[in-house]
Amino acid sequence: MKNERLYDFIQNEQLGEVRLNEPLNQYTTWRIGGSAEIFCQPENWRACSRVLYQADLLEIPVTFLGYGSNVLVADEGVRGLVIQTKKMSRIIWEEPYVTAEAGVALAQLSQQVGHKGLRGLEFACGIPGSVGGAAIMNAGAYGSSMSYVVNKVRTLNLSGVSKSYSKEELEFAYRTSILKKNRKEIITEVEFILENGDAMESKRLMDEYLQLRKNKHPLHLPNAGSVFRNPPEISAGRLIEEAQAKGWRVGDAQVSEQHANFIVNLNRAKATDVIKLIKEVQKQVYNKQSIWLETEVVLMGFEDNRR
Ligand SMILES: Cc1cc2nc3c(=O)[nH]c(=O)nc-3n(C[C@H](O)[C@H](O)[C@H](O)COP(=O)(O)OP(=O)(O)OC[C@H]3O[C@@H](n4cnc5c(N)ncnc54)[C@H](O)[C@@H]3O)c2cc1C
Repeated sequence: MKNERLYDFIQNEQLGEVRLNEPLNQYTTWRIGGSAEIFCQPENWRACSRVLYQADLLEIPVTFLGYGSNVLVADEGVRGLVIQTKKMSRIIWEEPYVTAEAGVALAQLSQQVGHKGLRGLEFACGIPGSVGGAAIMNAGAYGSSMSYVVNKVRTLNLSGVSKSYSKEELEFAYRTSILKKNRKEIITEVEFILENGDAMESKRLMDEYLQLRKNKHPLHLPNAGSVFRNPPEISAGRLIEEAQAKGWRVGDAQVSEQHANFIVNLNRAKATDVIKLIKEVQKQVYNKQSIWLETEVVLMGFEDNRR
């Protein structure tokens, strides 16, 4: 009943696309997951603020989704409202600053920045996330990460109130930020500060990075990038390989033969298959090397969210 009321509100006020019982597998790169009770793609941050305010009044739990490239959605789906940022996709250029709304594709922004002769975002050319998801996760590669280029971010809290965070306040660390820990705010835009560079050199770097990814990653099968965080001074992939878990399979979820820190969906993998496989890999690595691997992927709809 509450969900229907929120649905009507979003439709009547024309705040964005909204759907009831929307399957989420189509919004995750793993192609796994049940439905969101209510799913909304707000048109802009103001619309998003109004949706949040209304959800708060109705006491509907809210979950945020970017491009779903680092999440495992439960087979039972997600209770309440899922807000996906994809439609918030404006970019404002005020060099050396670039402000991108949360739903801008990071890889595309990286290409555009490079073409304009600005440097700093080359590392992101093959990361299939949104700008907001990348900022909250402090996504990174090839010795750089979002923490090197983010100047500030704007957020909305669960009542729809806007706030700004400086880079220092975001407390970036390896694949995390203060906002990832609290999960109570949605990033609506990110301001980057970039340096003057050379478009040709940026292109050369990006071509090199994309080639490296092509060679290393199982990009032909649905996946969510690295499943486990790298422990200090050793890569999770190497530990998994040494524990001889490469190729292990539960249902249609398989530890990639190509890159041991990736789990691929061979066809119809369920979230429960992935979870079982994650646990088996954790146990095996612990038994062999006494190191407990922590997950990097975010679980959605599993804990208190479960229907
Ligand atoms: C093939 C492949 C390669 C990858 N390579 C890399 C890599 O090199 N380096 C790397 O760091 N990652 C990598 N990843 C993982 C992933 O792309 C990044 O973590 C990315 O930044 C996640 O962005 P997203 O929009 O997909 O976030 P999602 O997966 O949608 O969400 C991730 C988390 O962020 C939250 N979230 C998303 N958007 C917002 C928002 N606007 N406000 C608040 N919370 C939000 C979600 O609630 C969730 O908790 C890779 C993934 C794949 C599939």
